[in-house]
Amino acid sequence: ALPPRLAGIVQAHAAARPAAPALRDPHAGTVDYAALWQGIQDCATQLRALGVRPGDRVMAVGENCANLVTLIFAAGLLDAWIVNVNARLSPREVDALQAHSGARLVFYTAEVSPDARAHGKRHGATDAAGPFGPWLVGPLNQDCVPEPVHADGAAQPAALVYTTGTTGQPKGVLLSHRGLAYVAAVSSRLRGLTPADRAYGALPTSHVYGLASVMLGTLYAGACLVLAPRFTAPGLLQALDEERLTILQGVPAMFARLLELTGDAAPLPNRLRFAYAGGSPLTPSLKAAAERLLGVALHNGYGMTESGPTISQTDLAAPRADTSVGRPIPGVELRVVEGAGADVAPGQPGQLWVRGPGLMLGYYRDPAQTAAALRPGGWLDTGDMGRQDADGSLFIVGRSKELIIRSGFNVYPLEVETVLNAHPAVAQSAVVGRACADGNEEVIAYVEPDARAEGADLARVLAAYAAQALAPYKCPSRIIVMEALPAAATGKILKGRLAQMAAQLGSVPIGER
Ligand code: ATP
Ligand code: MG
Repeated sequence: ALPPRLAGIVQAHAAARPAAPALRDPHAGTVDYAALWQGIQDCATQLRALGVRPGDRVMAVGENCANLVTLIFAAGLLDAWIVNVNARLSPREVDALQAHSGARLVFYTAEVSPDARAHGKRHGATDAAGPFGPWLVGPLNQDCVPEPVHADGAAQPAALVYTTGTTGQPKGVLLSHRGLAYVAAVSSRLRGLTPADRAYGALPTSHVYGLASVMLGTLYAGACLVLAPRFTAPGLLQALDEERLTILQGVPAMFARLLELTGDAAPLPNRLRFAYAGGSPLTPSLKAAAERLLGVALHNGYGMTESGPTISQTDLAAPRADTSVGRPIPGVELRVVEGAGADVAPGQPGQLWVRGPGLMLGYYRDPAQTAAALRPGGWLDTGDMGRQDADGSLFIVGRSKELIIRSGFNVYPLEVETVLNAHPAVAQSAVVGRACADGNEEVIAYVEPDARAEGADLARVLAAYAAQALAPYKCPSRIIVMEALPAAATGKILKGRLAQMAAQLGSVPIGER
């Protein structure tokens, strides 16, 4: 049975194995399960004393640390919703999310994050003692109206998680205690996690992947979560050695940055059992290089904030050579549809619809978008396109919104990006469509060169390279080299911004390269 509140996960281990390490934090050191459970209870007491009531939103601006983990669980104990946002967001972005959530109280986990401290000071927050070190606490927002509390405790929202904002403004996704606990339990079981495991916690808990799959999944197993306030490749290299990591979950950008640091050199000595990528497309070249470097299989998983997040993942017992995102996890149903919801022929690409216990309750304060995403029968329209092969393995082909229609042909940006990313001089790329005056769309590629690459005129080299590998209508009509592509805290490329930039480019005749 799943615990009625997420904190039950920690409570159970505190009873069964109190002295087992739950967290490693650069400032607090090792926090065992008994200490974490005590910290959560103390924090809940503190929240209540500060005026937090059931149905309130409690916001946390910060980066991964023991204080933040404690706050996430403690808010849930009071039936308040945790709203965790990354401290690296700009002041304008933090303010927008704070206003949208209508948070009663904001915590800034200041010790490990100068950015969080700066946000807190700007809002007149004051220094206070958190359970595992100092933090800043903002003034109480008297205008916060508590939301109704669900009679069934497990269906109560635990977290208001904002989407990455890849395609536009971040959307506020409401995830329940039951949904998050379900996904945590299943990811923990499918990964075969045991209390002996030491998992890397560098994915921000402000993102659903870092929150549910990594943080909750690891603690669900009674394993140790090695927290890193923010990802750096040298930090990961050090943790592989000194923290004796056995599990590494990341986004493709993390593996790419590690490879940039080490080169394709000799395999790294480590104790990993396996590694996982998810959150954005994994290319075959990156998968192969990361597997050579780490000496273990790099698994792939697909999910989204709205699905809490895990939809599918590859089977631990059957590592794959391709970049399939695996089969739906237990409890999740998947359909590949077209138009208003008719199933496509087997093997054909279509829109992905999913149903399962982890799905969001809805978008907060956005009934129109909620109605567009949650379809009758309990199906979520993911907005992604994919195809399933004969054994049910799923391949993501792209987002429906990003599909480019060029001279009547479909161009999937992911296919073009995969080709460009395979070039050794490319660190990463993003392909977007640009509407032309004649109603057609052209293919625009933005490319970030590999730090180790040298040589001029990369755009020309890549145009020739793409022409070798792709049909002419798929080839970018412009390749624009940028020192760094705009990215979210998880390393995801913010394609909406690039599409806006592309729309502002001067016109180029179709077919020009
Ligand atoms: P927004 O919804 O605000 O535009 P976002 O969709 O990037 O941003 P997330 O919920 O963080 O926000 O990301 C989910 C999306 O990431 C999925 O819908 C899918 O497009 C993509 N994705 C996730 N995992 C994978 C994967 N393994 N391979 C390819 N794409 C993936
Ligand atoms: Mg999305």
